[in-house]
Amino acid sequence: MERRHSVVIVGGGTAGITVASQLKKKDRNLDVAIIEPSEDHFYQPIWTLIGGVVFDKKISKRKMVDYIPKGVTWIKDYAASFSPKENFVTTKSGDDIHYDYMVVAPGIQLDWDKVKGLPEALGKGGVCSNYGYERAEYTWEVLRNLKKGRALFTQPNTPVKCGGAPQKIMYLTADHLRLNGHLDDVDIQFMSPGETVFGVEKFRLALLKVLDRYGIKFNYRKNLVEIKGAENIAVFEVTDTYGNMELQEEHYDMIHVVPPQSAPDFVKSSGLCDEEGWVDVDNGTLQHNHFPNIFSLGDVSGTTKAKTGAAIRKQAPVVSTNLMELIRQGKITSKKVYNGYSSCPLVTGYGKLILAEFDYDNNPDPSFPFEMAKERKSMYLLKTKILPILYWSGMLKGRA
Ligand SMILES: Cc1cc2nc3c(=O)[nH]c(=O)nc-3n(C[C@H](O)[C@H](O)[C@H](O)COP(=O)(O)OP(=O)(O)OC[C@H]3O[C@@H](n4cnc5c(N)ncnc54)[C@H](O)[C@@H]3O)c2cc1C
Repeated sequence: MERRHSVVIVGGGTAGITVASQLKKKDRNLDVAIIEPSEDHFYQPIWTLIGGVVFDKKISKRKMVDYIPKGVTWIKDYAASFSPKENFVTTKSGDDIHYDYMVVAPGIQLDWDKVKGLPEALGKGGVCSNYGYERAEYTWEVLRNLKKGRALFTQPNTPVKCGGAPQKIMYLTADHLRLNGHLDDVDIQFMSPGETVFGVEKFRLALLKVLDRYGIKFNYRKNLVEIKGAENIAVFEVTDTYGNMELQEEHYDMIHVVPPQSAPDFVKSSGLCDEEGWVDVDNGTLQHNHFPNIFSLGDVSGTTKAKTGAAIRKQAPVVSTNLMELIRQGKITSKKVYNGYSSCPLVTGYGKLILAEFDYDNNPDPSFPFEMAKERKSMYLLKTKILPILYWSGMLKGRA
């Protein structure tokens, strides 16, 4: 079957719904369709706090139908391939959806199988992850039962959604152990493939103090490649400062794994992406570098490695404004550009948070007029109480 819409948005997650809402606010007669297979919409930033048992997982999930903006056509299917020269998308069920303009926003792919043994080991024997609605609860089960032994926390050598999430759950674990008098009985270690605790200097220095307070060992250049679940062994590729690499086995009683991540496979093979597989857009306008009637934002876009909902809050007005100008005037004149803003609310304990905000050049880009590299209860309350309300009732409704 063939269909046609003026604007087709691929993906109804944070980015897709926000842009759709903003476009309909600008022109309620605009013919917009969203291709989105899921019945549910998830507020993923809460998953860290489900793993750390601040919230029940159900509060992160709502019905998609309640967030598809009024007047937008919901095509409940997967996008399977793109034909950007002919201006259509083919869905998994074989329909060709033609468009005048397209916004590509299907998020990021979690590559669990890139770590040998991980898919089989996950969800039992102390192997947990906050990366998934159904998974985060097990993190809490593991954490609750941990009283002594070794707790490892990993980060892959790929970009990830929310670069702070791999560390946040570690700080919650350490604080939970502290509150229950077990902190000295657990050897907590972070395994980073990189060479720094955080890319922005002032936040790096603040986190070093947090690591010190909890007695956490931060390891550099260690990349998880295998889990031997039956033996409670994690295997890491360890690279020295000269680039020599060896495999190292580490015992764990608990291991929180953040999987390798990449652009979805159907995007990698689309002819729309850069060398790394992300959608190839202009860093400022978020317009495609080769197909001017295509825009992209969110985790799948090639703009930045800082893939967060907070970044989307700044990207969405750029896409909706520039796209409306293109529709109305045939060219973009607004000079509305994205500056690479991203934010990482680094939960450093129960009731403690450092709100790290920065731009493309890793310069701090604060929203509040006070020193942000400081643990604050007010910022913790912002994340746990205010941001979820702003997300569901503001951002997704086009009020960002
Ligand atoms: C544990 C965790 C903690 C986080 N913490 C924070 C935080 O504190 N602050 C913050 O700002 N961000 C945080 N994030 C990141 C944030 O959730 C993401 O960056 C954001 O959701 C990305 O939005 P998106 O629209 O690009 O992708 P998503 O919101 O993931 O949406 C993608 C959508 O595309 C759909 N889709 C997939 N494949 C197809 C297809 N083939 N065809 C059509 N549709 C498809 C999916 O069903 C989904 O609805 C966190 C994420 C995690 C996992």
